[in-house]
Amino acid sequence: MRIDVLTVLPGLFDCFLREGVIGKALERGLVSVNVYNIRDFTTDKHRVVDDVPYGGGPGMVLKPEPIFGAYEKLSKEGPKPFVILTEPWGEKFNQEMALEFSKLPRLLIICGRYEGVDERVKKLVDREVSIGDYVLTGGELPAMVIMDAVIRLTPGVLGNRESLEADSFMDRGLMGYPNYTRPAEFKGMRVPEVLLSGHHAKIERWRKKESLKKTLKRAPELIEKLKREGKLTEEELK
Ligand code: SAM
Repeated sequence: MRIDVLTVLPGLFDCFLREGVIGKALERGLVSVNVYNIRDFTTDKHRVVDDVPYGGGPGMVLKPEPIFGAYEKLSKEGPKPFVILTEPWGEKFNQEMALEFSKLPRLLIICGRYEGVDERVKKLVDREVSIGDYVLTGGELPAMVIMDAVIRLTPGVLGNRESLEADSFMDRGLMGYPNYTRPAEFKGMRVPEVLLSGHHAKIERWRKKESLKKTLKRAPELIEKLKREGKLTEEELK
């Protein structure tokens, strides 16, 4: 998979693309990420990327020409990119969307800044995505959130595929179960006995029950959805 990012602050991505699971995935060539400075696609002498809003009002707006210029140049390289625009009022990002994006050959993420992008940029956009109901200073953190969730789902990126299946919101549609590691007792808090038993079927049952409890408490609508889809029976909920 190839991911292109358009931003006015490319330096923000340096650390993210160098460290941890994402850094390793790039090093191993499982995914390629190219961060482009929108300013490099300007054609005027002063390399201007923003301008005042028509009709007045505060702040600046990202101009359409450099973004269109970048899209036109980059889309000539390889498969047509699926274009995501980060927007506070976009569709709320979730695991389902991350899975969908992870199956695409190429993404192009446009990071807004200032008051946002000129509305005409939306002609290029396939999906406007929000990472939550709050306003950030720019689309760079949302782009990193989207990339992190998507790259992590790319085959080969995580060593142990099982760890994906046990994740919240994955196959079973439930939230993840509680995890413990050594020591078995810490400051008087003991790891649940069943996890020390070595009895795999019992451990599996306990984990499912804990996942159900957490989901019922924090997102009962997910349980209703699973019931409607016939993926969860009343018996399992007892
Ligand atoms: N004028 C916008 C408004 O009324 O909501 C706010 C613009 S915000 C300061 C600048 C840019 O940050 C946005 O264009 C968008 O790209 C990005 N952004 C801010 N919050 C976001 C969020 N929750 N999800 C996705 N992108 C966000």
